[in-house]
Amino acid sequence: MKQVINVNLKTNKYDIVISQSENDFLTGLKKTLKTSSLFVITDKNIEKLHLKYFTNLLKQKGYNVKISVIHAGETGKNIKSLSFLYDKALEAGIDRKSCVIAFGGGVVGDVAGFFAATYMRGINYIQVPTTLLAMTDSSVGGKTAINTKGGKNIAGAFYQPSLVWINSSFLSTLPRRHIKNGFAEIIKYALIFDKKFYDYLFDALDNETIAPKDFDYIIYKSCTYKAKIIEKDEKEITGLRAVLNLGHTFAHALETLTKYRKFLHGEAVAIGILFAAKLSLRTKICGPEVYKEVEKLLKKANFNLDAKNDEQQLLLLMKKDKKSLNGNIKFILIENIGKTADRLVKDDIVLDVLKSFTR
Ligand code: ADP
Ligand code: ZN
Repeated sequence: MKQVINVNLKTNKYDIVISQSENDFLTGLKKTLKTSSLFVITDKNIEKLHLKYFTNLLKQKGYNVKISVIHAGETGKNIKSLSFLYDKALEAGIDRKSCVIAFGGGVVGDVAGFFAATYMRGINYIQVPTTLLAMTDSSVGGKTAINTKGGKNIAGAFYQPSLVWINSSFLSTLPRRHIKNGFAEIIKYALIFDKKFYDYLFDALDNETIAPKDFDYIIYKSCTYKAKIIEKDEKEITGLRAVLNLGHTFAHALETLTKYRKFLHGEAVAIGILFAAKLSLRTKICGPEVYKEVEKLLKKANFNLDAKNDEQQLLLLMKKDKKSLNGNIKFILIENIGKTADRLVKDDIVLDVLKSFTR
């Protein structure tokens, strides 16, 4: 089945094509591109698993394909990879008219996107995500970045792709931990926007393995919500895009405190969502039944929700987060399943909830 989501931004319009058919991708590609010169960027794991299939697809259609492979995982998201890509691209004759294809997970998407945003002052790029997290979150929305010594995503740009092709069959090789990792953001969309989607996820997670048609539907719903938000607030200026930060203030603090080693992003977000629910309960934004529903779905997705940690340090890090204001921290809270509210919460209340949460 093929589903297409049109992302209508003021400066740029593009399609997200969700389909397991190569032809749907190739047709979209033909429509989008004026060039035959492609620069495919991927990582070492995906190179072994899927690169041949993917580049053959392109070569058969007459595209001139150049390839660059960066290190897999967060360590590949640095200035070294970027610099390597600039050199490789120049060597390969990639010019202003060529198009980059980011073929991989969030790391490849971020690096390749930032590369495309800056190479020769910006060339087109296409996202072909291969992890559940990238398919439902990072490949849509145009956030690109690399990490520096000082921190995560320090250098980056908002830079929208020209096309996104999501083929969920790439998920067949993705390790279970990374499949689960993707579910945190998916659950986030349900909690922010849609009780029915919550119910759907609850049922879908009954099965030991998620059926392909369920994956396609889950991806479709997630991308639809994400696209809707970025259409209204592409660069996180009006505040609308901020709802997508549900669970993230806590998650970022936890990730920083554990040096990005202990938790994958989604694992930290899952705990962050539970924290937001606990804070919502404490500030009476929601009742205990809502908190329980949030916890129930996170547990069903098999997340480890143990948040044992140093609450003072977590508070400090949360206050440093860009969402804090005059001694209060701004949180996205959960009013009901499918409805959020943003609130400034006093430090002492945050600390109090942290104490019961992290011990
Ligand atoms: P994210 O979870 O942000 O998308 P990464 O880009 O780091 O993160 O991807 C997570 C890991 O999964 C990396 O080691 C990457 O090489 C690997 N990977 C990506 N896609 C696949 C896939 N389809 N099958 C197996 N491994 C994959
Ligand atoms: Zn996130």
